[in-house]
Amino acid sequence: MSYIPEKEYDFVVIGSGLGGLACAYILAKEGHSVAVLEKNTQLGGNLQVFSRDKSIFDTGVHYIGGLDKGQMLYQFFKYLDLYDGLKLKRMDEDGYDVIRFADGKEYKHGIGYDNFKRLLIADFPEEVQAIEQFCSDMQDICKNFPLYNLDAEITADYFDNQDYRTINAYAHICSLTQNERLRNVLAGSNPLYAGVKDKTPFYVHALIFNSYIISAYKLIDGGSQIANIMSRNIKAKGGEIFRKSQVISANYHDDGNVKEVVLSNGSVVRGRNFVSNMHPEVTIDIFGEKRFLTAYRKRVKSLENTISSFTVHLTFHKDSFEYLNHNIYQYNVDDVWDGVDYKQELWPEGFFVCTPASSKSDKYADCMSVMTYMSIKETEQWQNTYNVIGHTEERGAAYEAFKAEKSEQVLKTLEKVFPGIRAKIKNVYSSSPLTYRDYIGNYDGSLYGILKSSKEPVKSVINPKTKISNLYLTGQNLIFHGILGVTIGAFVTCFNFVDRKNIIDKVKQA
Ligand SMILES: Cc1cc2nc3c(=O)[nH]c(=O)nc-3n(C[C@H](O)[C@H](O)[C@H](O)COP(=O)(O)OP(=O)(O)OC[C@H]3O[C@@H](n4cnc5c(N)ncnc54)[C@H](O)[C@@H]3O)c2cc1C
Repeated sequence: MSYIPEKEYDFVVIGSGLGGLACAYILAKEGHSVAVLEKNTQLGGNLQVFSRDKSIFDTGVHYIGGLDKGQMLYQFFKYLDLYDGLKLKRMDEDGYDVIRFADGKEYKHGIGYDNFKRLLIADFPEEVQAIEQFCSDMQDICKNFPLYNLDAEITADYFDNQDYRTINAYAHICSLTQNERLRNVLAGSNPLYAGVKDKTPFYVHALIFNSYIISAYKLIDGGSQIANIMSRNIKAKGGEIFRKSQVISANYHDDGNVKEVVLSNGSVVRGRNFVSNMHPEVTIDIFGEKRFLTAYRKRVKSLENTISSFTVHLTFHKDSFEYLNHNIYQYNVDDVWDGVDYKQELWPEGFFVCTPASSKSDKYADCMSVMTYMSIKETEQWQNTYNVIGHTEERGAAYEAFKAEKSEQVLKTLEKVFPGIRAKIKNVYSSSPLTYRDYIGNYDGSLYGILKSSKEPVKSVINPKTKISNLYLTGQNLIFHGILGVTIGAFVTCFNFVDRKNIIDKVKQA
């Protein structure tokens, strides 16, 4: 850990996930002194990458949407001085995502609404009306969602309980068509939000799905470029970033405001305001349970998180596997909503396949990630180990055997999609829920944080303000997860410190 000066920062940001970095940059750009404290060696949280056999793997960003000129993420990234440095690869127009079923049938999600509809209508000619309605419902939600549409009205409290939060995604799709296959195709990319049949709201589905339909890109050589550019930008504005700086507790002024945070090495960092990019539950524990109202604490602690993942990372022999400029969502069971509540004997009930875009070759992929759902309960026996770069605790032979067995199960089903793939594989690596838990610093390796629920819409929405008047939250648990959701969330957090209208105007003009 580098030396942290003994001064009082205007803002101390805890965690360098996209939310933390974006807040730090917005605040530094607006003239404040900022320090970012990150527990890991590598910045970025889910933007981190790792390398095996010289291939770069993403941990938490496989593709992003809404980046065409003038689209919402483009505007935000321009304001964040991020866009111009990014190495992007536009995905297949006629199928950036392919939804594939056990019978081998494939359905393509195309870029651009006209294209998207055209491809689906070719597969489901009897379902024109349902497809049209589905698209128009999604666009409607997106048009009215503040900041997603920069012109949409923001009410005084961004978190007002809008009616659409109670519309359930599965139920809504079912209301549009009786065609089971079409229902599954329309929800086929639901691992993007780890969708739960009776809980996931339609707005989560719409905001995320729409962002890719309007444009879909992979990040060439990995998502860490976002963190690297952001970190450079923050420093250029005078902000400071400290890696290997794990916050473990806080000290308070007599008035109940946070005075300073305490790091694992005993040093302290003082601030006038604190922004936590950690999971709200972790934030409560670190800042001290007693400091929060019982009702708030209970509510946050009772919230369900999205499930975790077991991901298999394959490296390929040189020029053996053709690069896929699309992702594949493979389902081994009929219902695309089933996998999240999987049955052991059927696991993996589905998986997501992505070959990362690499500057090395357009034609061949040097590696592939295959992501499946897994509950952290499966790794319970190793839960007391902690393993990240710089702090390695071996989880032991039984854990390695567990991972090898699970990887083999995934490979067996992967072979059905890509016959002969085994001969092309150089090495097999994997990450378990514990890997996600340790690198992100949450309790259960949750993929996307708090599960939004159409049953309890207000309960599952987290406000950036806490009862501690100089402690705020940011990150994927606020508005919605993903690069777009977290970016929007960072602005919503910063509205507490900067003039909202002024900053939105700047984003629009960026
Ligand atoms: C497998 C996977 C695939 C995904 N794919 C995509 C995708 O294709 N497209 C997309 O848009 N989104 C994707 N996402 C979601 C997206 O990556 C996340 O929603 C987003 O990056 C989360 O950002 P965040 O700001 O909430 O911070 P996080 O990424 O959660 O980072 C939190 C940071 O806080 C740090 N921290 C925690 N505790 C402490 C502490 N005590 N002291 C100091 N630092 C601490 C952590 O080390 C971490 O760096 C994916 C996520 C996963 C897991």
